[in-house]
Amino acid sequence: MNLEAKNILKNTFGFNQFRPQQEEIINAVIEGNDVMALLPTGGGKSICYQIPGLVRTGICIVISPLVALIKDQVNALKQKGIKATGITGGISYKDLDDILDNCIYGQYQFLYLSPERLQQSLVQERISKMRISLIAVDEAHCVSQWGGHDFRPAYRDINLLRTIHKEVPVIAVTATATKSVQLDIIDNLELQNAQIFKNSYLRPNISYLITNTTDKNSSYINFYKQHAGSSVTYVRSRKNAIAYSRLLTTNGISSGFFHGGLPNKVKVDTAKRWMMNQTQVMVATNAFGMGIDKPDVRTVTHLQLPDSIESYYQETGRAGRDGKESIAQFFYNINDINHAQNQFIKSLPTVENIKFVYRKLNNYLRIAMHEGENTTHQLSFSDFARTYSINGMMCYNALLTLDRFSVISLSQSYHRRSNIRFRESGKNIIDFLGNQKEMNAIVQAILRTYGSSTYQNLEINTSIIALRSNTSEQKVIETLQKLEEQEFIEANIIDADTQINFLEPRDDARTINRFSKELTKQNEVKKQKLEQMFYLVSQKQKCINVLILRYFGEESQPCGKCSVCKREAPQVLLLDKIKDVLIKQDLNSGDIASLLPQIDKNSLIETLRLLLEQGKVSLLQNHKYHWNG
Ligand SMILES: [Zn+2]
Repeated sequence: MNLEAKNILKNTFGFNQFRPQQEEIINAVIEGNDVMALLPTGGGKSICYQIPGLVRTGICIVISPLVALIKDQVNALKQKGIKATGITGGISYKDLDDILDNCIYGQYQFLYLSPERLQQSLVQERISKMRISLIAVDEAHCVSQWGGHDFRPAYRDINLLRTIHKEVPVIAVTATATKSVQLDIIDNLELQNAQIFKNSYLRPNISYLITNTTDKNSSYINFYKQHAGSSVTYVRSRKNAIAYSRLLTTNGISSGFFHGGLPNKVKVDTAKRWMMNQTQVMVATNAFGMGIDKPDVRTVTHLQLPDSIESYYQETGRAGRDGKESIAQFFYNINDINHAQNQFIKSLPTVENIKFVYRKLNNYLRIAMHEGENTTHQLSFSDFARTYSINGMMCYNALLTLDRFSVISLSQSYHRRSNIRFRESGKNIIDFLGNQKEMNAIVQAILRTYGSSTYQNLEINTSIIALRSNTSEQKVIETLQKLEEQEFIEANIIDADTQINFLEPRDDARTINRFSKELTKQNEVKKQKLEQMFYLVSQKQKCINVLILRYFGEESQPCGKCSVCKREAPQVLLLDKIKDVLIKQDLNSGDIASLLPQIDKNSLIETLRLLLEQGKVSLLQNHKYHWNG
């Protein structure tokens, strides 16, 4: 056992003990082995590379797929006094240059970056000069097509780090990986004699309940009338997040909603109230959950189908982190399956769709053929989709796909910036607006936030003004437009919600052809994953726990507490009772019924029929049943 590792765990991270597997993983990495670690969410994945990164000499490179994750982890390390840095989008060339130099000469211990960044030659060239202690690949399932919607083509090029630094060990960590994903990880990251660590996917304290209901709303409300305690509800759309949260609230159950489109401040506030148990239920899209580790979540409910068993497993895994009994309740009906088929499968963008969207996007932003590389553009997503009559969902998926294949880099920015200039003094404008309360509040908020100098150019953030004046951003923009009409201000309003960086020059169809095969295959995988999810929810025979574990390549016994096991249980119980009385003597059905008065007559007859079919009992001439054993 490595004493230094244990000291770091205690002194730097503040834990007295390792969680299951952590210590073995950390030792294997410190000794210089290639490692693949499959740890369920909440299992303390990052420590598995952070501690070896601190023990081994040099800088640890961490590849991570999401900017938010990178920022979170870099900040957390900095707060512990560790020299860590991250390269995220929107960094200027000069800053990038500085950061990389610091990593060579500045005794940094961690460098976080996205796999796409690794493709830049400047980054590769500098990395070749660094003394690397360890290469850690977080969310390693992104390397595999079988990882479903998380697949990131750039993950496949991480192995170029192995060419640059042959001797450095690699650790790949992920929360969910099926057998084929595991093989893909080992293969693509070129792990040598990899030591594989795997925690069981069994969650013994979670009961998976799947209920087919025609009246979802009342089942949903009734559930919360019977189950107190912190909870998350997962839905698929922003609209539903709002609608179901409202449904709970009007029925006296406190709730908040969360989706990717909310301004950052609102997200933080909503999450905080829920974390502090001021609201019971968080109704959310899958945008909710990252970086959230609340131990006492008692129930997770689903009202719509997740797109894969991985997602379902991850979302239900928010429950019971403290190890106490918890429930994952799924309300579904046949409409959901139809809906998912229509919404999800039909909105998967085909190669033709993507070519279309890509060409239109270039036209819309006026980018000429063979131009546009490294340019940045603001886009109003809905305006773009409307201009070319493209289905919104499909359009969004097409842009995401272009992002995944490194054609563009997409970032959603809800902080809309506009430039304004006052042509009158603030006081005059306020006087003029008089009793137009809402507009008045907006102007006051602008004056309070940005000052009131006449004729000075002010860059204002409309979403902040909306928050401070307690109105909507749309209202702020309308107000600015009105003030401009009345010549109180000059305004240049940027109504964009999406920022796009073009990573390569426009080449229309040829740009897309490069990855058309992979795209088609990916769509196929996504369909299969959804079908496996259909199979799981419509299950009547096999234990849900057994099926989930089998999906991740584990065999197990029926759990005895999922909705399928519970449905079987009464009959099993009944069988045992009938056996107990018949084993002593032959009896007719009336005798059995009088010996087992608590049992319903119909289920008794039904069970006896079943026993006859199975040959466990036989019916004698005198109409008595005989136990054959
Ligand atoms: Zn079960």
